Amino acid sequence: MAIDLDELVTHDPSDHCVVCHAQDIVSLTLIPAAAAWEATAGLPRFSTALHGAAGLIGSMMAEGVPRADAEAALSGLLDEIEKQIAEEGALAGPAQGTA
Ligand SMILES: [Zn+2]
Repeated sequence: MAIDLDELVTHDPSDHCVVCHAQDIVSLTLIPAAAAWEATAGLPRFSTALHGAAGLIGSMMAEGVPRADAEAALSGLLDEIEKQIAEEGALAGPAQGTA
């Protein structure tokens, strides 16, 4: 069965949007777990986050997703995350401790 990356990265207006649901799970489980693993194992911050992301994408490539398609999908998601970070920064005002 072909893996439809477009379906995995496209928001839909329902309450069951795949993108939003997956992002919520990552925020609530994977990000804190990676930080805890790094602290517990004495690894540098973001080491398991980066290798975890690469490993998970590698598992998609092992299932037949071309690297270029995975990179294009990832790039679009990073664009979206970058925009969210900028918006959250704008809402929060200047970074604390620099005023
Ligand atoms: Zn969504």
